[in-house]
Amino acid sequence: MLAGGPIGRFAPSPTGRLHLGSLLAAVASYCQARSKLGKWLVRIEDLDPPREMPGAADDILRTLEGFGFQWDGEVLFQSSRHDRYAEALAALKQGGHVYPCACSRKEWSHLPAYPGTCRNGLPARRERKLDRFRLSGRLQSWPDCFRGEERFDTATMGDFPVLRADGYWAYQLAVVVDDRDQGVTEVVRGADLIDSTPGQMDMWSALSTQEGAKPIPEYGHVPILQTLSGQKLSKQTLARPIQVEEASALLDQVWRLLGQSDSEVWKEAVNRGDPQHLMSLAARLWMPERVPSNPIQLQGWGQDDRL
Ligand code: GLU
Repeated sequence: MLAGGPIGRFAPSPTGRLHLGSLLAAVASYCQARSKLGKWLVRIEDLDPPREMPGAADDILRTLEGFGFQWDGEVLFQSSRHDRYAEALAALKQGGHVYPCACSRKEWSHLPAYPGTCRNGLPARRERKLDRFRLSGRLQSWPDCFRGEERFDTATMGDFPVLRADGYWAYQLAVVVDDRDQGVTEVVRGADLIDSTPGQMDMWSALSTQEGAKPIPEYGHVPILQTLSGQKLSKQTLARPIQVEEASALLDQVWRLLGQSDSEVWKEAVNRGDPQHLMSLAARLWMPERVPSNPIQLQGWGQDDRL
């Protein structure tokens, strides 16, 4: 363990209210950090106004409180960090890790990934639309906290945008800059983001070269929740929001979906119905080796299978 203990985080985008899949990721990241007496941060990833829902950020924070989560320090809003992202982008450019790209998505959407057309300079008579991160082409592997060894060949992946064609910062840049600046040592999130991890590790190393070395965090990806027809529960697919009134029952459900032990002491705490007490007990009882790795199907939460 690092001096000072681990630092975990939960980083929802305010594009809708929290659903059961978000709760699962929040509980896992909380338990993973707090079980080792670490800190747990909350960051609101509000960098994509067209996709955001008015009031969602407040609603998410109130819901987390109602479910008994306690975070360390102030909540960080990415919308307050534009200058910092500009500075990091300049550092990446200076190191040759970012290049201007003229391609629109439809020019390469028939391919599995962006083919690197502008990697060695803009083609003649083309203008910059966006900036892309240059992947290292290395094999990236990590011992996932819940899934064992994961490995991805970044040579087969597409360089991704850091500054989008619409002028907004890309998630990939902001998430790495913030995790570094906030001293995050473990990133626990849904397995839907696993494909982003190798590129984020690459960018982390690039920023370490440009702005000072920081150890790459540990990564853990928890199963995504799906409807019976296989649709991922997400804010975009209008998964049913979780309600504070059902906190204890839903924490119990998520606990079991995470493969955790349904011991007597846990059952008593569920019956007592105090979410704060349940969350502190969860951190004490947490067994990461029991977290499953396959997607979990369940009924009653998706738009397509409401009971
Ligand atoms: N903001 C992202 C989301 O809500 C999560 C980012 C992360 O955990 O790295 O899907």
